[in-house]
Amino acid sequence: MLMAKRETKCPHCKQWTEWQGGLYDCCLHCNELLEKEEINRLQALETQRRIEAEAAQALLDQQNPFLRKLSGYVSLIFIGFILSVIAVVVLFAA
Ligand SMILES: [Zn+2]
Repeated sequence: MLMAKRETKCPHCKQWTEWQGGLYDCCLHCNELLEKEEINRLQALETQRRIEAEAAQALLDQQNPFLRKLSGYVSLIFIGFILSVIAVVVLFAA
């Protein structure tokens, strides 16, 4: 794949430099990251996402035993209900 070379103004030394289109490309003059703001933004997003995922996971861990028990009871009651309906139908049909 051919990367388009672009001229861009370095945000640090304000000189024109080549940008290959990569996130981690550095300025030819001062060797600073050209996309530092974008990298910071992405890292902040990633951190935010991880914090949210951890919080969601913690919440899930907290709820899980209760929900598992509850869904176990619900399916037992449901199966019992279906079985008694079948039993009633069979009894009345006979
Ligand atoms: Zn520079």
